[in-house]
Amino acid sequence: MIRSNLHTHTTFCDGKNTPREMVEAAIKRGFHSLGFSDYGYVWFDKQSGSMSSESMLSYPYVIDGLKAEYSGVIDIFKGLENDSCQLHNPKSYDYTIGSVHYVVKDGVRYRVDHSPERLEDAIVKGFGGDSMLLALAYFESVAAFASTEHADIMGHFDLVRLYNHGNLYFDEYSETYRNAARQALQAVIRSGKYLEVNTGILFNELSGEPCPALFLLDYARQMNARVVVSSGAHSAKQLDFGFAEMEQLLWDAGFTEIYEFTKNGFAPVPLAAPQPQGQPAQKTPTAKEHTAKEHTAEEHTAEEPASEKSPPAKRGGFSRRRRQAAMAADEPIAAAEEEAGAQDAAAEEEAAQPGTFDSMDIEELAFEEEEDE
Ligand SMILES: [Zn+2]
Ligand SMILES: [Zn+2]
Repeated sequence: MIRSNLHTHTTFCDGKNTPREMVEAAIKRGFHSLGFSDYGYVWFDKQSGSMSSESMLSYPYVIDGLKAEYSGVIDIFKGLENDSCQLHNPKSYDYTIGSVHYVVKDGVRYRVDHSPERLEDAIVKGFGGDSMLLALAYFESVAAFASTEHADIMGHFDLVRLYNHGNLYFDEYSETYRNAARQALQAVIRSGKYLEVNTGILFNELSGEPCPALFLLDYARQMNARVVVSSGAHSAKQLDFGFAEMEQLLWDAGFTEIYEFTKNGFAPVPLAAPQPQGQPAQKTPTAKEHTAKEHTAEEHTAEEPASEKSPPAKRGGFSRRRRQAAMAADEPIAAAEEEAGAQDAAAEEEAAQPGTFDSMDIEELAFEEEEDE
């Protein structure tokens, strides 16, 4: 099991828990490391959820304090989520996550992940009602950001589809969309940046796809992308949301290792083979325990996949099989919504019970449901 998370938010921005509460929760969950990535100040949008300029000043001191206080217990890292529209100096942080939240058209910044209303506003006012143009502009921004030095990790790669349930605005199955996404992914991988595989978006979207979507995960594997798994946690409960399922999806895509941040920088960690149902999960070694040689951006050369029609061999794959079945169906989203609906119903039933209800419960319910197939 992955016991680390580099994309987490606290009360310094729009997170629900203080940094200390996050650290305590991470320790309880058996984490060996925790990275904070509060959202760098964005001046032009009062609804951004970013840190204030004042918070930006105290944030590093608080995280450094926790780093020293918990030394020997858990490795704490001071990161920053750097918005493509307002860049902060990455040198002040252990690592930075580069994120595109806005597409810029004719000098106006339009937010794509705040609400359906703001997305629609962007489509109408910025792109004359053509939602595909907005999606293409989003991926152009991702590719452009990849060429800068302001991020080590590219965050939530295809965030633009957050409110695109059921292909409501643009067709994610079209070659126009997929080619743009693949081109941006190539730019990210060739830049030497790490690719975030974000489990947090699973909270909000109904297509049942991870972030990046499955076709992009396959492509990323073929391009030898170096991936980092994180949840974009906005509360302590979300610290390891979806990690077990994501490990399975990565394994199915052919990944054998992921990357974690350590005191010596990014290091590969082997991905533990998923265990058959009912058997205890194998512990994923920490980056420190893993002795494989460290890779650097220079050593890493992205390769063109031989053919997109020759995906890597699949191993296991209960989650993936279900999702692919939904994707291949004539009404793919109806199938996915049915699945999500079943999970929602189960989650509601669980929530009605006394005791704690958190993301782990949702995960377990989802897995139990899979077993029934
Ligand atoms: Zn973000
Ligand atoms: Zn974030």
